[in-house]
Amino acid sequence: MLKVAVAGVAGRMGRALVQAVVESQKSNIKLSAAVQHPKSSLLGVDVGELAAVGRLGIPVVASLAEADFDLLVDFTTIESTLSNIRYCAENSKRIVIGTTGFTETQKQEIANAGAQVPIVFAANMSVGMNLCFHLLKQMSEVLAVDSDIEIIETHHRHKVDSPSGTAMRLGEVIADTLGRDLDKCAVYGREGITEPRDRDTIGFATVRGGDVVGDHTVLFASEGERVELTHKASSRMTFAKGAVRAAEWLGERGPIESGGYYDMEDVLGLRA
Ligand code: NAD
Repeated sequence: MLKVAVAGVAGRMGRALVQAVVESQKSNIKLSAAVQHPKSSLLGVDVGELAAVGRLGIPVVASLAEADFDLLVDFTTIESTLSNIRYCAENSKRIVIGTTGFTETQKQEIANAGAQVPIVFAANMSVGMNLCFHLLKQMSEVLAVDSDIEIIETHHRHKVDSPSGTAMRLGEVIADTLGRDLDKCAVYGREGITEPRDRDTIGFATVRGGDVVGDHTVLFASEGERVELTHKASSRMTFAKGAVRAAEWLGERGPIESGGYYDMEDVLGLRA
């Protein structure tokens, strides 16, 4: 039985994750601990009642050191996740990371921790979106030669990073497929630009408002046709269920000390 801790249980994703772990059909994983910010007023509260899934007898605690677990699912903040990764690496715990907004240096730190313990890290844990990443490679290969490529994303008004981690990942998939450097070809705003569009750029547009869970469209616009790849998340449960699938998969990956750095393509068996 794999004992699973969820960090940030009072958050939007944290509550959905608790529900998804409890509802998991697999008998080999079990929620064992719930962690929340040390200054939270919810410390000591039963996490089942917090997540509206019924009493579980698991009180919310303030740190991983107080938690009994084999695998951590972490959708919190950059600072909290980086600190949790260090704890997990030092204490031989597997970790599924969904937090977004890391710099390249921070992503490298996460990848390095994968040498010590098995990690799944994905900016979007939705199974449907990960299939979109996969399809996008083929679309880019076929359509990019005479298309302008734009990525349009919409999220709820509380989201703090932009463009979204998923939009950036879509851009990386396209750039990697086409042999372009995303740092050089990405265009994040066009105010003040008075020249025609450069075909080799990848444009990003960010929309924030209301309670939109997460919409992403990749637009390939050429002379005479437009092709769009669109994914719309209607509930956070899609990310939570994907994270639980990642936890189940990671729990069965080899010995902890062998490490391993994976994403959802590995979890879903989509890697070529
Ligand atoms: P949120 O603000 O609702 O929740 C974050 C929670 O983490 C809060 O309860 C906060 O108190 C808690 N927290 C902060 N510091 C902590 C600490 N040191 N210890 C324990 N808990 C701590 O945010 P959210 O909407 O749930 O999103 C969380 C993260 O997940 C964001 O980075 C978001 O972009 C990302 N996200 C990823 C996916 C995905 O599929 N990978 C999907 C949705 C959201």
